[in-house]
This record gives sequence, C-alpha cells and structure tokens, in this order.
Amino acid sequence: MDFESVFASRTSRMKASEIRELLKLLDRPGLISFAGGIPDASYFPAKQFGAAYQEALTAETAGTALQYSISEGYTPLRRWLAKEMAKLGVTCTEDNIMITSGSQQALDYLGKMLLSPGDTALINWPTYLGALGAFNAYEPRYDKLTVNGNRSAADISAAAQAEGGRVKFAYLSADFANPTGETVDRRGRENLIDMAEELECVIIEDAAYQSLRYDGEVVPPILALEIERKGSIEECRTIYCGSFSKTLSPGLRIGWICAAQPLVSQMVLLKQAGDLHVSTVNQMAISKVAETHFDTHVSTLHKVYSERRDAMLQALEEMMPKGVQWTKPEGGMFVWLTLPAHIDASELFKVALETENVAFVPGHAFFADGSGKNTMRLSFSCADAETIREGVRRLSKVVQEAL
Ligand code: PMP
Repeated sequence: MDFESVFASRTSRMKASEIRELLKLLDRPGLISFAGGIPDASYFPAKQFGAAYQEALTAETAGTALQYSISEGYTPLRRWLAKEMAKLGVTCTEDNIMITSGSQQALDYLGKMLLSPGDTALINWPTYLGALGAFNAYEPRYDKLTVNGNRSAADISAAAQAEGGRVKFAYLSADFANPTGETVDRRGRENLIDMAEELECVIIEDAAYQSLRYDGEVVPPILALEIERKGSIEECRTIYCGSFSKTLSPGLRIGWICAAQPLVSQMVLLKQAGDLHVSTVNQMAISKVAETHFDTHVSTLHKVYSERRDAMLQALEEMMPKGVQWTKPEGGMFVWLTLPAHIDASELFKVALETENVAFVPGHAFFADGSGKNTMRLSFSCADAETIREGVRRLSKVVQEAL
C-alpha cells in the first residue's frame, strides 16, 4: 500500500529532523560533542525526586497521585508557579496557569489553537527547530520577525493577506535563545508589543532558558512589560511558555503556560482533547522539589554552566581563526558561530566528525527557508571546561583547514 496516500495534507511538511539523524552518528568513543542541547544529567536532583515520589505515594496521597486529575494541572504547583511568575513582574493567579507536557506541548497546542492553513507566523531567522516542527503541522506561512521596528506592521500584514491568511502570532525565545544564545533587550520587547498591537496578533514568549541567566542585566519577561502597560494580565496578548526541563528535569515533561484567562481556558479545551492532563504523580513530585529546592538548585546550575560558557568563549577567542564570529550569551546553553560565507557547516560537520571526532549542529536546519549554511550551534552544557577547550581546539583546526 502507498501509505503516504492516506496521510493528511498537514503531514507534508513534517519531515525527520536532520539534527536527530545527525545525533545518531554521535555514538563514537572519544567524541567531543557540542551538538546536544540538553542539561547535564549529573546535576539532576535525583535524591530529592526520590523522596518526593515516595512522599506522593504514601497512603494519604497515593489515591490522588495515581488518579485522573484536572486538565488545568495540579493546583499546588500552579499556585507555586503563580508566585514565581509574580517575582518576575507577572502578577497572576493559578487561573492564569495551565500545566503542559513540557513547553513543546504548549507550542503544539498554540499552533493548533491559532493557525489556520496559510496564516502567518512571525519567527526569527534562525528559530528553535522544535517550534518549527510543532507549527509546521498547522500549515502556516512564515515571515521574518524583527524587533528593531524597521519593518512596518502594515507591510507585514499586507504580505500575510496576499497569501490568503493573517498574522496570528509572533514567536520568540527572548532570553538566551536556542539556537543563538542571544537575548532581546527591553526596547526590542517594547517594540514587539507595539507591533503585535498593530497587527492584532498574540505573542508567544518561549521562556525555556529564562532561569539560566549567569550575568548581565535582567530584562523582564515580555508578559511583565505588557502587564506594566496595561495594568492586568487579563488585558495582555502575550502567552508565556515556561518549562522545568532546563532546571529540574526534562524527563518528567513538565512545562506551563501563563496568560489571560480566556487564552488559558481555550488551551484547557485543547489539553482535554489531547491527553486530558499531565501525569499527576509527576506534577506532585516536581511541585515538592520546586518548593523546597528550586532556588538552590538553579544557583548550582548557574555556577556550573557559566564556567563552561566562559571556557568556551575564552577558547574560541584564543583558537578560532579570523573571519569567524560568535555570540556572547549571558545565559542558557548555546553559542552561535557564523563562518565565512563560502564554508558549508553541514560539509564541515562530516569532516569534523571523521578527522577530529568533534561534533556540533549545522545551523541551516534552524532557518525556515533553509538559509544559514555557514552557521553552527555549539552547546556548552554537557562538557567540563577542559573538554570544551580540547573540543574548540579540534574544531578550530577543522575550520582553519576549510578557510
Ligand atoms: N523551547 C526551546 C527554545 C527549547 O530549546 C526547548 C527544548 N530544547 C523547548 C522549548 C521544549 O522543551 P520542553 O518541552 O522540554 O519544555
């Protein structure tokens, strides 16, 4: 049977991730990999989770822990999150919060909620690959998001209409973005709110890395800036997507959205239709660990990851040949390299793997239009400083030879 003939048209843009295919090649002895974008597993708070699961499964609470529960999510966790959001300037209650299965699910449901085929999604060039994967299923048109105010809302809107849809949202990761490591400053965030107002679209603020700031000036979330203007979250068009994946554990699959209640209510309907709710026992465990250990755990991560970032930036400075540029992230897990235009990073990947046993992610997969051939993403989260130095030495050699 020709299976593809029965697939819905929305699957036509879903393709196997090139990155996942590349990552399959990385099981080699002695390899130094800057390719993964994941937390260092040796820092997971495993002991605290052990105790939290045990507590959740005691006689008094096991019935709740193992039972179905509400789609909005575990109420004590939502209350704790509402307090954390308030510390960031997002005054809200638990009714503004819904728990999701990682922020990835929030991106999928937001695509489902907002995009009809042909509608426009404004995204960065490059953008988080998983966001493209989530949105692609809803058949959008993509247009370039700029936050420096140099493109008029009227032009953006006209281009969307010419394609038979309208601009539904602007999606961005404003803090230490995946893949670039860059942060949008306060003025950029204010410009974005202005533009979204003119376009009458929503803003999806992907805050997956927001807790991982190592230095530099703290910039309030876009949602906090919008609340400053409007006085209440209920007047705001920003949907904040948070996640515990980069702080406590990605394996538990717990994230949240925080937004005006009508937006949350609609998302709750999608959650009901999708998978009813996030695992109750996982929510109870993360709630306990977050309440008792979140701040101390995150400060440990700051120390570990900032040392690794410093090691990577210093090694790049010392060893990378002239003509290569890179970002200087104030947090997160990524440094983004731009090579001279004639170098194709996918070709370089093969050479780097074969000759020097070092890996990275070629950047063009992060571009909706497949451009960015001379770019690459390096992650510093999973290697110690010495390994990072050796990895950058190997990589610099390969780049030098390609010049
Ligand atoms: N957003 C960004 C920018 C990410 O990098 C990731 C994971 N790599 C996610 C969302 C999804 O993370 P999760 O579903 O684990 O919360």
